Amino acid sequence: MKNGTPPGPGLSAALAAALDASAEDRVVYDLTGIENQYDTLVRELPGLRVRFALKACPVDEVLRCLADRGAGFDAASPAEVAQALRAGAPADRIHYGNTVKSDRDIAEAHRLGIRTFATDSVEDVTAIAAHAPGARVFCRLATSGEGALWGLNRKFGCAPDDAVRVLATARAAGLTPAGLSVHVGSQQMTGEAWQQALDTLAGTLTALAGRGITPDHVNLGGGLPALGYRDRHGHLLEPPLDKIFTVLREGVEHLRGVTPAPLALVMEPGRHLVADHGAVRAHVSRLTRRRRPDGTDDHWLYLSCGKYNGLYEMDQLTHRLVFPARPEAAEHVRAIVAGPTCDSDDAYGGGRHPVPVPVPATSGDPVWILSAGAYATSYMTRGFNGIHPLPCVCVRGTGGPATPEERH
Ligand SMILES: *Cc1c(COP(=O)(O)O)cnc(C)c1O
Repeated sequence: MKNGTPPGPGLSAALAAALDASAEDRVVYDLTGIENQYDTLVRELPGLRVRFALKACPVDEVLRCLADRGAGFDAASPAEVAQALRAGAPADRIHYGNTVKSDRDIAEAHRLGIRTFATDSVEDVTAIAAHAPGARVFCRLATSGEGALWGLNRKFGCAPDDAVRVLATARAAGLTPAGLSVHVGSQQMTGEAWQQALDTLAGTLTALAGRGITPDHVNLGGGLPALGYRDRHGHLLEPPLDKIFTVLREGVEHLRGVTPAPLALVMEPGRHLVADHGAVRAHVSRLTRRRRPDGTDDHWLYLSCGKYNGLYEMDQLTHRLVFPARPEAAEHVRAIVAGPTCDSDDAYGGGRHPVPVPVPATSGDPVWILSAGAYATSYMTRGFNGIHPLPCVCVRGTGGPATPEERH
C-alpha cells in the first residue's frame, strides 16, 4: 500500500489495490468483503433470513453475490423487485417492504410473483387484498428512532393496537397475517433501541395470540450499523455491535416463548452489509485558503465528489479520507471539506471540526473516501451542475480474479 497507508475498517487489500489502479473517479466495491460480512451476520444470528434492503446498494454484482449466498431482498418498488429477480433471488425470498405503494405498484409486484407485503394501515391492507389477493402481510410497528443517526420515525409504522386491527382486517380480507416488523432507525447505535422494539413486539404478539392470530415471523428491519464511519467531528463511531447481537438473540428467544407457533427471524440489513466494503476514488479539486468577512482565514478542501455524487450522508457522518500520494506523516492543515456543487450544504467540517489534510494537497491528487459503500450509488444525482453518477467497479479479494467489471 502506498506510503504505508494503514489498513482498517473500510480498507481491504483488494479495495486499496483497485483504488490505486483507478486513474478516474469511481465507486469500488469489494465483493469478497460483502460476502464475508453476510457470513458473519448469519453466524451471529443463526437461522436469520436476510432480506437485503436494495436501496443501500442497488448494484447488480453486489446483489448477485448476496443472492448466491442465500440472501433475499427487501424491495420498495416494482423496479426493485425486478432487479432482485434479475439478481437471481427467487420471488419467495423477496418481499415488498414499502408501506407506501399505489394499487398499480401492488398489482405489478404481484404479477412479478411477490406474495409478501409490508403494511401499516387498514387502507393499504384493503388495497393489497384487492390487487394481490391471498397475499401474506406483515405489519410495521412504529419505533422512536432514538439512538439512530436517521430515526425514520415519522413516516412509517403504527401503534400496537392498530397493528392488531390491521392484521385482523387482513385476515378478514382473505390475506395471511404473517408477521410484524420494526425498523429502529438507520445506523442505530444502541442495544436499547432493539430492546425496546423487542418489548413492543412481545406485547403485540401476545395481543395477537389473544385474537387467534399467530404470525410466522418477526422482521427486525434494518439499522444494523457500519463500523468505519466517523461523526461530524471526525471521531470514529463505535457502535456496540456485540451487545446488539446479544440483545437480538435473547430477544428473539423471548418472543418465541410468547407465541404458540414457530417464529422465524427476518432482518433487512442495508448499510451493515456494504458500507465498509465500498470506497470512492475521488480527487482534489483544490486546497485553498479563503478569508471570511470577519477577516479570519479558513482552509477549504474542494473535492471532486460530495453530497450529490457519493457522499449524500454528510449531514450526519463523515468518512476517513486517505491521500495516497502524500505520506500519512506529512504536515497537515485543518480544512473544511466541500463537494463540487453550488449547494452550500455540500460541505462538512466547518465550525470547530475541520478535517486534517496533508500539505501540499494539489489539484488532481487522488483521494480515497472510505466506508462509502452504502447509499452512495442510490443517492447520486444526474446532471446537477453537470455532475453525472460515478461509475461502479466490483472487485474480489483473494481467491477470485481481480477483474473490474465496469458499469455506468
Ligand atoms: C432502508 C431500509 C432498510 C435498510 O436500512 P439500513 O439502515 O441501511 O440497514 C431496511 N428496511 C426498510 C424497510 C428500509 O426502508
